Amino acid sequence: MSQHDAVVIGGGAAGLSAALVLSRARRRVLVVDAGSPRNAPAAHMHGFLSRDGLPPGELLAYGRNEVKNYGGEIIAGTVTALVPDGRTGFWVLLGDGQRISARRLLVTTATSYRTSPVCVSGGPATSCTVRTATDTRFATAGSVC
Ligand SMILES: Cc1cc2nc3c(=O)[nH]c(=O)nc-3n(C[C@H](O)[C@H](O)[C@H](O)COP(=O)(O)OP(=O)(O)OC[C@H]3O[C@@H](n4cnc5c(N)ncnc54)[C@H](O)[C@@H]3O)c2cc1C
Repeated sequence: MSQHDAVVIGGGAAGLSAALVLSRARRRVLVVDAGSPRNAPAAHMHGFLSRDGLPPGELLAYGRNEVKNYGGEIIAGTVTALVPDGRTGFWVLLGDGQRISARRLLVTTATSYRTSPVCVSGGPATSCTVRTATDTRFATAGSVC
């Protein structure tokens, strides 16, 4: 099974932004997204420079296309566990039974105000505590509402 340079867990604004930067840098990137962005109930976004009034779903559709234009992959799915592979990377386990290999992980599941459904056992990250990490193989990102 081939390994992704980075698997981004969560395909909202944060995850797609990260995937865009990484895919532009020619990294092999996969975004796994459960498809429930926190602003799903909102009909329009406001205060987002240049896109005021745009339906949030349209922003994500633009973002997905931009990521794909640089070769990034996006799949629908729910990540249920992250497991160190015993070497330098991780196995990303999905609810439907898929297992994906990753060198690096970026969790952008909007953990800042809801509990992350993703737990990591062993390895450099040993809990579900929300944190941002640098110089590790695991990081979380997202905005506070
Ligand atoms: C009602 C409402 C209205 C808002 N209006 C505005 C506005 O007008 N302007 C503005 O700038 N901001 C607005 N916000 C804030 C905006 O929604 C957030 O800043 C933005 O969505 C954060 O992006 P994110 O990528 O961090 O999280 P999200 O957009 O929530 O994306 C997280 C993604 O991760 C996925 N995910 C979660 N768990 C898993 C898993 N285990 N496996 C795979 N995928 C998973 C989710 O399904 C989701 O698609 C609003 C928020 C709310 C709640």
